[in-house]
Amino acid sequence: MAELIFLDPVLKDVIWGGNALRTKFGYDIPSETTGEAWVVSAHKNGDCRVRGGQYDGCTLSQLWNEHRELFGGQEGEQFPILIKIIDAKQDLSIQVHPDDAYARVHENGSLGKTECWYILDCDADATIVVGHNANSTEEMKQMIAEDRWDDLLQVRSIKKGDFFQIEPGTVHAIRRGTMILEIQQSSDITYRMYDYNRLQNGKLRPLHLEQCMDVIHCPHKDYEVIRVQEKTADYELEELVDCPFYAVEHAVIHGQLVRPGLPLYEMIDVIEGEGTINGTCIQKGDHFVIPHGYGDYTLQGNMEIMLSRP
Ligand code: ZN
Repeated sequence: MAELIFLDPVLKDVIWGGNALRTKFGYDIPSETTGEAWVVSAHKNGDCRVRGGQYDGCTLSQLWNEHRELFGGQEGEQFPILIKIIDAKQDLSIQVHPDDAYARVHENGSLGKTECWYILDCDADATIVVGHNANSTEEMKQMIAEDRWDDLLQVRSIKKGDFFQIEPGTVHAIRRGTMILEIQQSSDITYRMYDYNRLQNGKLRPLHLEQCMDVIHCPHKDYEVIRVQEKTADYELEELVDCPFYAVEHAVIHGQLVRPGLPLYEMIDVIEGEGTINGTCIQKGDHFVIPHGYGDYTLQGNMEIMLSRP
């Protein structure tokens, strides 16, 4: 029978990061400004390695290239999904991502980026940016030229457990005091629109205003998230999004949850507590792929998990 594929995170130092990936998730972070743990990734900028089992030490991209049967034979040059935990101690830049069509032409055949955020934890007064208030690209250019960022950006209050789907072309930013689990298309293409005039190693990070103007949707339209919940004495299971690139669910288990095997494969992130899957121990901070052919499985224990599938 196919075995679970546990992955070790790839940790990233960034100017806006903190140390919560160590204090809350126990990861061995490289600096006190570690902002990202790429927990399920086969991307060339952070390819996760398998921990234990028959593929111990292999990268996820190797498995994708050499053992496509583990992924149900799904087609595609690249493993399609990237999952990160983000610790934003400072504000992230205001940014936007292209869609597949734009990225293919302008970014060397790369994938575009649709992403979604599950708020793992945040300060009481934490906010994020999703959307803008300009009615046209012309108006947006004008507002940027006049430095009217407060008028332009839509700032929203957030709380633990909130969920956002960020479509390509949506202006967005994660802001300080926020921990997020991000599930996204496997792409690293970000067009930076505004960076608060911060310096990194004495220099401003580059902006990509031209590309921003190409891809930002005007006017902004909110993506309406519909959360469908199933509740029993043993668990609460909630479907958060089902889009062309991924489907994501969130579950709180305080007993047992039995799930049918899936046509392709699935990823699980344990974000709180501990338990077992078909008898194998799992705990907060574990991330693994349930490969094709693993079959039905039973989750047991007291834990909170995210489930995602292509
Ligand atoms: Zn983004």
